Amino acid sequence: MDLKSLIRDVPDFPKPGIVFKDITTLLNHPEGLRYTIDALAEKCAPLAIDYIIGIESRGFIFGMPLAYKMNRGFVPVRKRGKLPAAVYSAEYALEYGTDQIEMHQDAMRSGSRVLIVDDLIATGGTAAAAAKLVGQADCEIAGFAFIIELLFLEGRKNLPDVPIITMLDY
Ligand code: AMP
Repeated sequence: MDLKSLIRDVPDFPKPGIVFKDITTLLNHPEGLRYTIDALAEKCAPLAIDYIIGIESRGFIFGMPLAYKMNRGFVPVRKRGKLPAAVYSAEYALEYGTDQIEMHQDAMRSGSRVLIVDDLIATGGTAAAAAKLVGQADCEIAGFAFIIELLFLEGRKNLPDVPIITMLDY
């Protein structure tokens, strides 16, 4: 399956100089979508995970069907202020300033092995912040899974030394 042909490049979005990797064209292709989730599940199977974390919001789109397919619980990591119960928080850098992501404190049993999922890794800052939340919950990071990796940004250097599963690199 030629997944790259299903990803649309949108130049100068959200601002000049950025080439946005648009996954909506993959999502509305039935065979491409099924192949993506099935292949990810196969690649992630050896990691022996207990939970899958999806990072808001495109990490939900891929993390949830992956959790369903792998028969594991799904944990949403959300932007600040969205989760109703007690949360752990982690800060990450934006171009100007910082933002926070949060996870419910009771989302996972301590000691669980966790897979962190997002659509794309650029600088790795967002995924590294999600990794901090896993640490706060006394859980272990089993690995990361991304559909797309932007190799030239070397984001994996900012992640802990665990398996990083990807489908496409640029
Ligand atoms: P980073 O924290 O730099 O790894 O950025 C990752 C987050 O930003 C992911 O949630 C991506 O969805 C989004 N992102 C960053 N760069 C791009 C891009 N070129 N195209 C699409 N999404 C991007």
